[in-house]
Amino acid sequence: MPRPILATVHPAALRHNLARARQAAGDAQVWAVVKANAYGHGIERVFDALRAADGFALLDLAEAERLRALDWRGPILLLEGTFEPRDLELCSRLNLWHVVHREEQIDWLAAHKTHQPHRVFLKMNSGMNRLGFRPEAFRAAWTRLNALPQVEEITLMTHFSDADGLRQGREGVLYQVEAFVRASRDLPGERSLCNSAATLRHALALRLGDDDAAPALAADWVRAGIALYGSAPDHPAHSAADWGLQPTMTLSSELIAVQHVPAGETVGYGSTYTAAQDMRVGIVACGYADGYPRHAPGGQTHGAPVLVRGVRTRLVGRVSMDMLAVDLGPVEAATGPCRPGDEVVLWGRSAHGTVLPVDEVAHAAGTISYELLCAVAQRVPFQID
Ligand code: PLP
Repeated sequence: MPRPILATVHPAALRHNLARARQAAGDAQVWAVVKANAYGHGIERVFDALRAADGFALLDLAEAERLRALDWRGPILLLEGTFEPRDLELCSRLNLWHVVHREEQIDWLAAHKTHQPHRVFLKMNSGMNRLGFRPEAFRAAWTRLNALPQVEEITLMTHFSDADGLRQGREGVLYQVEAFVRASRDLPGERSLCNSAATLRHALALRLGDDDAAPALAADWVRAGIALYGSAPDHPAHSAADWGLQPTMTLSSELIAVQHVPAGETVGYGSTYTAAQDMRVGIVACGYADGYPRHAPGGQTHGAPVLVRGVRTRLVGRVSMDMLAVDLGPVEAATGPCRPGDEVVLWGRSAHGTVLPVDEVAHAAGTISYELLCAVAQRVPFQID
């Protein structure tokens, strides 16, 4: 018998979330962001459900090859562009669109002999200070690219640092929108600005300019990642349910032992948790080697949430490599004595009809859902429901 741990991908939820992103994006086209192996879900596992997107955006040439192997003929965008000149050959062969964010990438394009001109997303660093040309250098970069016969079309893009919240008391995107508009106002071409947070919060509500005739922030393309995977990009201000999103991955396991722990005794490594009264503790076949965060708290009052038999309870003690421990008190109060083999949901949907949003587990562990979804370990088997 294999260890009872399983990750389940929910295609119906992926379809639903894509439709939700489309609705939030208005007339804009939607890139389904599938980098990092579709945020840990597996590109091949999400492909069918997300093929209604207008294109797929990712980082890795190897992932782009996997999409083409699935017979995806539509647009694929390389979000960080190429890493060396010879990548351009593969870009041409796979017919990829790619981001240009630094001068050297323009040099490579200028030197590239191609029969098939490239479609380029020219990236402005409007405030994130990660990738892109600063606003004052953007026009010169556009002019250079536009003069190259190797370039067929240039889309103007930027990426927000604070789309999920405020910056200095204002909507976090505003300072970047202003910088982007100022530096690109009269340049031709399509535009792409919004990630999930900006799509859900602002795509139709804010404009690329001061007057009512200015295009909506959604512009021509939005780039939706985490929303497709059923997480609220601005948790805890909003939940996934607030945004009408459904969980796309369930990480489930089972109880493999039940311990009676007398008051005053401790649970797990480091003896960090002491039973305040006699209690029953369930041992679950899931640990940090499966991708569950070791830093998730198993404290007296703040334990990361877990579902056992669909009932919400909490982690106790430290997460081990292959196991973790949960308080069975609330579960047994609701459903009677627990036993090995009982269902445990670390995040996602229980067969008993309840849901534990991955956002809540991530929040308890002091991280974000993106990290938990991407970190599910290779040894965890996956299924598609
Ligand atoms: N666009 C770019 C350039 C990104 O790097 C990312 C992901 O980090 C996204 C879009 C998608 O972001 P999210 O998953 O928050 O929607």
